Amino acid sequence: MRREFVPTADDVLCERCGYLLNGLPPEGACPECGLPVAESTSASPRQPTAWESGRDRAVGRFQATAIAVFRNPRQFFRTMTAHGDTARSARFGLISLLPAMLFNIKAVLMHCAILHILYGPPATAVWPILLVAVPLAVVAGWAGMYYAVVRLTTFEARYWGMRLPRDVVRRAVHYDAVHASVASLLPWAVTLVYLCFLIANETAAGKWQQTYLYTLSLAVIASAVYLFAMYATAMRSLMYANR
Ligand SMILES: [Zn+2]
Repeated sequence: MRREFVPTADDVLCERCGYLLNGLPPEGACPECGLPVAESTSASPRQPTAWESGRDRAVGRFQATAIAVFRNPRQFFRTMTAHGDTARSARFGLISLLPAMLFNIKAVLMHCAILHILYGPPATAVWPILLVAVPLAVVAGWAGMYYAVVRLTTFEARYWGMRLPRDVVRRAVHYDAVHASVASLLPWAVTLVYLCFLIANETAAGKWQQTYLYTLSLAVIASAVYLFAMYATAMRSLMYANR
């Protein structure tokens, strides 16, 4: 349901249903869903992520956080603070995105190699250009997607009366980047398997080229759906956060 106004940072929202709890006693319960008020305020489970806290080495903090995001994204985004150091979360996002970029670059280049084997070498020396252009395009693609997602989400949230300011969205997207690396594995695996097949037995693999193209398209769609589902989980789990 669309809310007429966007709650301010000072408004207290029910963590479960988003009802305005302003002025209610801490020992009371949400009039809409019955969740104790304290669970949205003083007893809220939200705390800074493992990446942002503790004295462990960066590798350990990164690992703990990445595993938590991957294993149970809903739990992760429901127990992390919505506000915090975006420069720090951005570093986490960049590190998480590196494997995704590498797998994307490898998948596109392997796909080009497959086309090269199937349809013969390109007329001009395309490979040196591809080796530079593909990595640049992948990096630009992710950067563009990041800006589009942050802008569109904050715009949409304002329209629907949801409290998702830019920095909250940015922090969520930074941690959500773990899923980009997981999602990029599937298209990479499909191109790798078919390329190996093609190298091992060109004639037999040639007959499967249409199946390969369909499988690759399905893999890309499945990855995109997975990424969108994870992003939506993150936003839903943060839109009623009070801290
Ligand atoms: Zn409620």
